[in-house]
Amino acid sequence: MKATPVKATPVKATPVKATPVKIVVDSARCTGHGRCHAIAAAVYQLDEDGFSTADGQTVGPEQREDAQRGANACPEAAISLEE
Ligand code: SF4
Repeated sequence: MKATPVKATPVKATPVKATPVKIVVDSARCTGHGRCHAIAAAVYQLDEDGFSTADGQTVGPEQREDAQRGANACPEAAISLEE
C-alpha cells in the first residue's frame, strides 16, 4: 500500500514589533517574588528588598520579548507593558 503524502501547511511567523515598550509595575501588587528578575534579569532589576525597580523603564525592541516573558512570569500580574 502506498502512503498518502501529507500536505504541508505554511506557518506564518509572528512579526516582532520593532518599537520600544514601557514597563509599568503596579507597586501595590508587587510582593517581591522576584520571578520577573529570575526570567529576565537584564530587564528586571530588584531593590534590596526584592521588589521590582523596573517601573517606568523603557526597553528597546531587542528586549521586548524578555520584557513580556518577565511580565508573564509575575504571579501577581503586577507588570504591564505599554506601547
Ligand atoms: S515577579 Fe511580580 S511580584 Fe515579583 S518582583 Fe517581579 S513584579 Fe514584583
